[in-house]
Amino acid sequence: MTFATLGLIEPLLRALETLGYQTPTPVQAQAIPAVLAGRDLMAAAQTGTGKTAGFALPLLQLLTMEGPKVAANSARALILCPTRELAEQVHASVAEYAQHLPLTTYAVYGGVSINPQMMKLRKGVDILVATPGRLIDLFRQNALKLNQLQTLVLDEADRMLDLGFSEELANIYRMLPKKRQTLLFSATFSDDIRLLAGQMLNDPLSIEVSPRNVAANTVKQWVVPVDKKRKAELFVHLMRKGRWKQVLVFAKTRNGVDALVDKLQGLGINADGIHGDKPQATRQRALDRFKSSEVQILVATDVAARGLDIEDLPLVVNFDLPIVAEDYIHRIGRTGRAGNTGEAISLVCADEVNMLSAIEMLTRQTLTRKMEPDFEPEHRVPDTDASGQVVKKPKKPKKPKASGGGGKRNLGKWVDSGEVAPAEPSIKPVRKVPVFNTGPRKKK
Ligand code: AMP
Repeated sequence: MTFATLGLIEPLLRALETLGYQTPTPVQAQAIPAVLAGRDLMAAAQTGTGKTAGFALPLLQLLTMEGPKVAANSARALILCPTRELAEQVHASVAEYAQHLPLTTYAVYGGVSINPQMMKLRKGVDILVATPGRLIDLFRQNALKLNQLQTLVLDEADRMLDLGFSEELANIYRMLPKKRQTLLFSATFSDDIRLLAGQMLNDPLSIEVSPRNVAANTVKQWVVPVDKKRKAELFVHLMRKGRWKQVLVFAKTRNGVDALVDKLQGLGINADGIHGDKPQATRQRALDRFKSSEVQILVATDVAARGLDIEDLPLVVNFDLPIVAEDYIHRIGRTGRAGNTGEAISLVCADEVNMLSAIEMLTRQTLTRKMEPDFEPEHRVPDTDASGQVVKKPKKPKKPKASGGGGKRNLGKWVDSGEVAPAEPSIKPVRKVPVFNTGPRKKK
């Protein structure tokens, strides 16, 4: 199959040739004809599957072939993204695909001055890429009208809900024309996403290019158990031993990012960090330097790393496991992209056992553990498996305590046989702010 057989027009084919795209990826093969035919879409596609071209190419074609010229302060298509970084990245891709088309594109997001964005929107743009908060600001200030909107794309919809944008999405939903095409992309499909889809989409075609909630199988994943206090030391050891050249490292908190970067820089290692406290320009600079290999180790929080598109990134290290299990899939989606192989290593301490269990349950796999000599933890990481069970092996069978908890809370309930019964992981693979409510605001 080729892009030509999918029915794409010549200016798009020329752009793809320049970019070196030869064969459509599975999500593109399914999405392109459906979008060209005017269908709504509900696509379960992870980052790295080529989903951006999957929606952008047919969207560009429809906008070129159909519909009136864009009016002042209007947009004909809107692509909503959870973060500024993703908005920038999606816009860059769209602009590349549109290089031979007479269409205008633009990206708006918060954290930068709104005035230049308002100026730019005066003439209208064919495709607007936006984060939800800034889009609403522009709409409320009359800088943007949405009555000419033909198509709405919700990119990484699960992430938008994770980041607490459900209310913004509900507001945007009320601003949209009823007659429109809507395309929803999400790495994972929880009940909340299905609810959102039920409200926003009209008889959508469902596309699932990888099994539900399963991470890309081109990524080799394993866990190194270690004591919390020795994580940084282990990281440096593994880095030197493996001669790592370019590594994206995830830490749980902003302080965690800063502490690791300080430690690495103190050892003369070329490292930089990005997190939500840093200004957008600083984050972009760090990212650009990492992409151009000026920086070897980039340490990031989940929010800051969202949407990073670094081709051929060989290795992702989870210095801390994510609190929300689905972030694990997003994190490791940074490697193993577009058919390349990649590695994802997680440094896991005993405190993180419930997170590990939630990740294994979500991805339906038991992650291989590799003990690193001299770093065997004093605090053993209890055994886990894909059933969500955390098995604490006692040295001697104990009698149940009155509270029903043998040892730490959430590690499992002891039963008479000395076995451990399945426990609910305290960190469930669910979103933090999951409610999409199109009705009136609930009182808090
Ligand atoms: P995405 O999942 O949209 O973030 O895309 C992941 C990466 O794959 C990006 O770097 C794209 O440029 C690249 N890509 C997308 N489609 C293709 C294709 N058909 N052939 C080669 N590379 C592609």
